[in-house]
Amino acid sequence: MAALLAGSRVGAARAAARRGPLVSCRRWAGAPADTVYDVVVSGGGLVGAAMACALGYDIHFHDKKILLLEAGPKKVLEKLPETYSNRVSSISPGSATLLSSFGAWDHICNMRYRAFRRMQVWDACSEALIMFDKDNLDDMGYIVENDVIMHALTKQLEAVSDRVTVLYRSKAVGYTWPSPISMADSSPWVHITLGDGSTLQTKLLIGADGHNSGVRQAAGIQNVSWDYDQSAVVATLHLSEVTENNVAWQRFLPSGPIALLPWSDANHTDFVDSASTMLHYAVAFLKPTKVSARQLPPSVAKVDAKSRVLFPLGLGHAAEYVRPRLALIGDAAHRVHPLAGQGVNMGFGDISSLVHHLRTAAFDGKDLGSMSHLTGYETDRQRHNTALLAATDLLKRLYSTSATPLVLLRTWGLQATNAVSPLKEQIMAFASK
Ligand SMILES: Cc1cc2nc3c(=O)[nH]c(=O)nc-3n(C[C@H](O)[C@H](O)[C@H](O)COP(=O)(O)OP(=O)(O)OC[C@H]3O[C@@H](n4cnc5c(N)ncnc54)[C@H](O)[C@@H]3O)c2cc1C
Repeated sequence: MAALLAGSRVGAARAAARRGPLVSCRRWAGAPADTVYDVVVSGGGLVGAAMACALGYDIHFHDKKILLLEAGPKKVLEKLPETYSNRVSSISPGSATLLSSFGAWDHICNMRYRAFRRMQVWDACSEALIMFDKDNLDDMGYIVENDVIMHALTKQLEAVSDRVTVLYRSKAVGYTWPSPISMADSSPWVHITLGDGSTLQTKLLIGADGHNSGVRQAAGIQNVSWDYDQSAVVATLHLSEVTENNVAWQRFLPSGPIALLPWSDANHTDFVDSASTMLHYAVAFLKPTKVSARQLPPSVAKVDAKSRVLFPLGLGHAAEYVRPRLALIGDAAHRVHPLAGQGVNMGFGDISSLVHHLRTAAFDGKDLGSMSHLTGYETDRQRHNTALLAATDLLKRLYSTSATPLVLLRTWGLQATNAVSPLKEQIMAFASK
């Protein structure tokens, strides 16, 4: 009900904007008073919706006015579909902890997910392999359908609708930042214009609007980016034999990595191939060429015919994550190759860090949009994210070649890493954040 009320405040602003002299993009003197939010999250994908939940469930923000803007429709699953979605994410234990902190993980557990305890990665050009496993029976990660995560977040947002207003089918089309030299008649807040011409103001704008982020572009933040000239093909596969199905498999081919992720029941699995080659041909490559001590992946019986989809791949990184009254999170700040299954986990890590810094500001009664704590978020996350982006890009390039010196180098690297337990444990600890 409160969402409806807050929605009608926006509605009033919309009507006022339609009635009155149209609000100028630069000067706000004489404009009808827009609703001023403490925080607006622009973009309600997995990361933006989780950010809004994290703020909505944290007691430090209970007196704050929070708005989530999403260009697309509301996404709830009336009933869990029998067919598995081909869009799944490998969720790290750290991300599961974040989702638990505001109750979304319980929904996921009541719907469907698959834990995995082992990961085997090997090279197509040599017999080198690395095996990650948890001997203490802890889960290494979880495979969850994106629709299920989105459903859980939407349900949790509904439950805090008195604290977090969500506007679906509401695309932000313009952002204006306060002038650094504040004029007497200028507003000190960020102004947001929606597609229908209505306007809002916020003390802090969080850009969670994906890798083509309009927020990042409007702020003029530089983005280092390149395309990999490669696409990911995802599909749901049926296995020919029943297995314990808790191993994630990945094999590096010169045309790109191919991964087989465990899935919800004993003989379903999900497939991610970053080369747009023939599906069965690629799956055949998962089989090691020689008999060895390694575990063999299960054989594939069939591919769900309608489950194949293609995603172009690229890398992107924003030079700055924050500006006065602005923070970027998720793919708006960084886009990574899915070979390490880390994109959304990095976004969830951004949320934990940003909420931590905003919580301190709220506790001290400080302005949420001021740089004094936003820079703490940027430092924390750029340190973590740049290391992951660089490692993923290096792996992608190192494994895209069959040149002998590089094959020897990576074979040695993989074998050495596999042999040094503390190093493997560090990699696992880093990836599970
Ligand atoms: C094939 C593939 C496999 C992957 N596998 C994994 C994995 O296993 N593990 C993992 O961690 N990551 C994985 N990823 C990465 C992960 O999917 C992304 O990092 C994640 O979805 C990014 O979420 P986001 O919310 O930041 O951005 P998006 O999902 O792009 O969401 C942005 C949202 O903003 C909205 N929006 C955009 N513009 C506006 C506007 N102007 N106004 C209002 N709303 C707006 C959009 O409608 C959208 O809902 C994978 C990616 C691919 C392609």
